[in-house]
Order: sequence, then C-alpha cells, then structure tokens
Amino acid sequence: MSSSFENELIEERKQLKKLKFGLNKAQELAHIGHWELDISSGELFWSDEVYRIFGYAPQEFAATYELFLKHIHPDDIELVNKSYMDSVNEKRGYHITHRIIRKDSKMGFVEERCEHEFDADGNVIRSIGTVHDITKQKIAQNEVMLASEVFSKMSDGIVITDSSQKIIKVNKAFSKISGYSAEELYGQTPKALSSGWHNHEFYGSMWASIMTHGYWNGEIIDRKKNGELYTAEINIIALHNDEGILTNFISIANDVTKKKEQEDLIHNLAYFDSLTTLPNRVLFQERVVSRIPFIKRNKKKMALLFIDMDNFKNVNDTLGHVMGDKFLVEVSKIIKKAIREQDTLSRLGGDEFTVIIEDIDTVMDVVSIAENIINAFRQPLIIEANKLYTGVSMGISIYPDDGQSYEELVKAADTAMYQVKASGKNSFQFYTQSMNEKLTERIDIENHLRSAIENNEFFLVYQPKVNLDTKSVYGMEALIRWKHPELGLVRPDKFINISEETGQIYEIGLWVAKQALLDTKALHETGNMLTVSINVSSKQLENENFIRDICREVGEIGVDIQYIELEITESHIMSNIDKTLSILNELHFIGFLLSIDDFGTGYSSLSYLKKLPVQTIKIDRSFVLDIETDEDDRSIVATIIAMARALGKDVIAEGSETQGHVNTLKLLNCNKIQGYFFSKPIEIDTFKEFIYNF
Ligand code: C2E
Ligand code: CA
Ligand code: CA
Repeated sequence: MSSSFENELIEERKQLKKLKFGLNKAQELAHIGHWELDISSGELFWSDEVYRIFGYAPQEFAATYELFLKHIHPDDIELVNKSYMDSVNEKRGYHITHRIIRKDSKMGFVEERCEHEFDADGNVIRSIGTVHDITKQKIAQNEVMLASEVFSKMSDGIVITDSSQKIIKVNKAFSKISGYSAEELYGQTPKALSSGWHNHEFYGSMWASIMTHGYWNGEIIDRKKNGELYTAEINIIALHNDEGILTNFISIANDVTKKKEQEDLIHNLAYFDSLTTLPNRVLFQERVVSRIPFIKRNKKKMALLFIDMDNFKNVNDTLGHVMGDKFLVEVSKIIKKAIREQDTLSRLGGDEFTVIIEDIDTVMDVVSIAENIINAFRQPLIIEANKLYTGVSMGISIYPDDGQSYEELVKAADTAMYQVKASGKNSFQFYTQSMNEKLTERIDIENHLRSAIENNEFFLVYQPKVNLDTKSVYGMEALIRWKHPELGLVRPDKFINISEETGQIYEIGLWVAKQALLDTKALHETGNMLTVSINVSSKQLENENFIRDICREVGEIGVDIQYIELEITESHIMSNIDKTLSILNELHFIGFLLSIDDFGTGYSSLSYLKKLPVQTIKIDRSFVLDIETDEDDRSIVATIIAMARALGKDVIAEGSETQGHVNTLKLLNCNKIQGYFFSKPIEIDTFKEFIYNF
C-alpha cells in the first residue's frame, strides 16, 4: 500500500470516527437513537442512544429483537410487534408511539419510525428505524390535558386574564354563573361584570391585597348578563413567570347566591316574626342593646313603647286562630302607619308589640306618637266583613331615665303597660318610680307569701252579722289577716289577688277554712250556734280537689254543715258561669250554705240568678256608702232587695257604717246587716265577748 493511500485511509477513519462521534452526540442531544435489523442474519444494531433510552450504558449487551420486546410496555407489545410485521409484509414503513419499560422499571414514551430496504425482487432485507424518547413531552402534554380537563369540568367559575386584566380565558362554569359566553367576555375586563354594589374602597383594598400578597379572597356581588345580581365567593391569584414578571390573574368564583339565600332565610327565621314579618323579640333586643351605647355617647334619649292589644284573646276565642292571625297582621300594619319611618316596630309574640323611638328631644315627641297609635284604633278593624273593635294598652319607658339596660327598660315599660290594663285599658302611661315601688312591693309580697303559712303569720278576724228583727248576732264572716315581721300588717286587698295569680290562694284558702271551722266548733261548744261565712275565691273553686278537701276539713273538725256558708263574689261566678254553676250545685247538694258576695257589681242576669243555688245575696258595700243621699244607689238597693225576695233569697247589706245606713236599709226592708256600725272584724276572743255583751 502506498503511504499516501494509507494516509488517506487513516484520514478517512479519522473522519468516520468524527462523524460517528458527531452522530452519537447529535442523537444524545435529540434523544433520538437508531437501529438496524438485518433480516437474513437476524443481527440487530442499536445506536448508543437507544441503549441510553432504555436506561442502559451504550452497548451494555448485544441487542436482539426479543430483548427489545422485553422493554416494551406489556400493553403495547402487540402494537409494536404487529406494526413491524405488517410493515414488513406490506413492504412499507411505519410510525408509532408506544410506552417502554426502562432498566430501572420506570415507564417512558417513545416515537418510532421505521423503513425497509428491499432486494431486486422486492423482499425486505434490512429494516432501519429511529427511536425518539418523547417521555418529557408526553408528561407535559398529559399535564396540560389534565389541567384543561379540570379547567373545563370544574364547577367553580374560572376567569384568566392577562397582566392588563383583559380576559383571555373563562371556563364553562363561569359562563353558567355569569350568563356570558366565553366569546362575549374575551378582551373585556372583569369590570364588565360589576354590579355597582361595591364602592371604591372595596376594590381598592382588594387590589392592594392582590398586589402585595399575590391573592385576595372574599365575597363579591356581581351582575349576570340578564341583570340579576349574584354573590360569589372569589379567590384571585396573581401569576408571575420565572423572571418574576406579572403575567396573569386567575379568579376562581363560586356562586354562593343559593347558600346566601339559605343563610338569609335562617337569619329571617331567627330575627323576624313570620306572621307579620316584623322584627321579633331577638332582633328587638339586639337593636335596643346595640343602640344604647350610641345614645349614651350622644347624650340622647330613647323611648320604648310596650303595646298590648286589648281584645286579642276575645278575637281568638270567638273567631278562631285564623282570624286571630289576620287580626295581628292588620294591627301590625296600623301601628306601622301610626309611627314614623325611623321608629322600629317589633312583635314580641302573641299580641305584644314594641316600638323603639330614637332621637327624641322632648317627651312630647313620644306622646304624639303614642296618641297616634291610640287614635289609629278608634276605627274598628274590618277583617273579612267582621268589624272588630280593639284598643291598645301602652306602657312607655325612657332611656336613660327609667333604666340603663335592655332588661330594665322592658321591665319598666311592661310595668307601665300593666298599670294601663289595671286602670281601664286603651290608653298609655309613662313609667313612674311609684310604679316601680308598687312592683317591688308586689314582688316582696309574692316572696314572703310562700312562707307565711309555715311561719304562722296568718290569723283570722271575724265580723258579726246582725239580724235587725231578732236583734241578735246570727253569724260571722271570717276575714284573713297577715302579720309579717317586716311588712307589718298586710290587708287582704294587697295579697289575695297576688295569691290568686300565683296559685297560693288554694293553700291559704284551706288554712282559712280549717281555722274558721276550729273557731266555730269552739263557739258551738259554748252553745252559740252561729253561722260562719268563709270567703272562697273562684281560683279555689276551679281546683278539682276543692270539694274533697273542704269536706275533709268539715268532717275531721266536725262542724254541722248547715252552719257553714261559702261567700263567692258575683263577678267570680259570672265570669265562668257554666263551670261554677255545676260546682255550686254540688256544694249545695252536700249541704253548704251559699252566698253571692259583692252583689250589684258583677252584672248578673236575672235568668242566671234564678238558677243559682244560693240562699243569700250580699249587697256590695259601695251601694250602702251613699244610700242616704244618692237616689240611684238607694233605688238599686231597693231593686236588689225586691228581686231577692221574688226569687226567695235572703239579703244582707255589708259596709253599714252608721245609724243612718242601718235605718235606711231597714226602711228598704233589709233586715240583715254587717258593718262597722256594729263591729269591725275582730279576733275570736274579742268576738266572743262581743256576742256576750250584744
Ligand atoms: P269582702 O268579702 O267583701 O269582705 C268585707 C270587707 O269589708 C272586709 O275587708 C271588711 O273588713 C270590710 N268591711 C266590713 N265592714 C265595713 C264597713 O262598715 N265599712 C267598710 N268600708 N269596710 C267594711 P277586708 O277584711 O280587708 O277584706 C277585703 C277582701 O279580701 C274581702 O272582701 C274578701 O274579698 C277578701 N278576703 C278576706 N279574707 C279572705 C279569705 O279568707 N279568703 C278569700 N278568698 N278572700 C278573703
Ligand atoms: Ca265576703
Ligand atoms: Ca263583700
């Protein structure tokens, strides 16, 4: 060989080596390897990059088709095999993408291309292919697919803008929420959705948060394409690229209108009266409590009106609850009209309403509003052709004069309202300190009453009943007295009512009966066969045990029942006539004497009077007081006496204080008298002396 040829050869090899190196490097950089398969010899060649793609060192082992198949993902082996075989049979190239399993068992993606070389007869003699590792691209692509899947399927609305807030993408959910299609929104800014609900400060602080912290979240009220408002819970995120430059804003919106509506409904249930839609007790209290500091700071006054309808129970009882409800709704409208825009009307429940009046300068402001309310009910309410007359009883308390707290103010207004009720209804009254004193006294009495029996604080006094014809004492009325260590001597007028309200009257009444019977028995044992009159309140009668309990006392003590008279006031009998009548009949049947007390004040009708099993009518002392001078009183007494005689009943006049009283009554044919003229109620020992000397 000539040296020049040799040199040429060396040079060529060098070149070839360089080329091979270059090719290898190029393949490594492009992640593309190549292979060649000699069909006749079955010899397979892999370039270094193919080894690398499969996770091996270059030429780590001798490549074979079988080894190659081993590195194909099991699910793709058939595809790979078939693609190759088909391409050989059909004498054409192919191009597929499939998964591989690398040496370290990790999965990868490759793109394969293959072509064939043919002999003169057209048979395949060699196959040449490339393997392109596309794992990275594939993963990136999958991520994008996943992201876009999420983007379009998410139920939250997503809006993506560029850095200048121009909308570049919105998802389906957002179109659904806003009513705008993606196309309508592209190029716009989110201002297009603004409802005008929020002010500059709101957006200002929102953007400040996005710019400084990179995000904001909160609730925004936006406007839909159809004009409707909706509340969205929104997260806004500022996106920056690797260089830290702001590129996008992403807003994720969740329409919470439904949730909001639900919350509002719950709020309404908790704070508003469903019947009248007025604020309820809870909201009323909240308002008062929340206004107090403000009013205090500004040295103002606030009035609280406590309103109770005068006829509600009646309406409910006679016309039913449906009408009762309509009545209340109507009432609420009327009061609302009578007050000013800024005054708050609430319904506390039942027929109780309150009004909060703020910014009052003088008490006269409140008076005129109160008068407006009273006057508004001068006309009857017309509900479904029913004419309903009603009135209001209103108590008024003033902050800070009558109370510093909600509780004190309500209590004061309530106390004043009760005062109105007690003194004839359909009016208003301001709370006064004396009402408070009355109330305190009442509470004192109520508390001390509880222990009065066990502490032996009650005692009885007796007032004689005199028969003018026989000039003798024929009976005595037992009257209770209460001597309390602190309160002193308390008159029954002060505590009987209260004990009726608390139910304590029942126990007290039994104590009275027992004591009166014991005293009577002692009297009878000395031969003075007097009749004892015991006052019985309707609250006692209504107790289902009354007859049993009183009969037990009578039996145990052993007083002849024909000397026991029960006095029941006329108004008590008439207020629940049907029920009382049957009890009175039973008592009469057992053998008790019965008397109608305070007669003339309770509006008895003659027809009822006829039916009542009472033997005696006791003319109320109010008619006796002026009987000498007042024509009317005298004729009333004369009528009562005539009526009683006609019905075959006995008559007694109480409250006879003077000789004149006694004379007049005698002239009117009333021969039984009770009163100071003969004696004040006195203790039993004094009473015994009294009859002894009579
Ligand atoms: P009442 O049953 O009408 O009793 C008569 C009241 O008139 C008694 O007052 C008596 O002291 C008073 N009185 C008697 N004579 C005269 C008079 O000439 N002039 C005047 N101005 N008053 C006279 P008291 O004892 O304060 O009793 C008041 C009311 O308390 C009684 O009225 C009765 O309704 C009730 N009460 C008294 N004791 C009992 C009782 O044991 N049980 C029940 N349920 N109620 C009682
Ligand atoms: Ca009486
Ligand atoms: Ca009486």
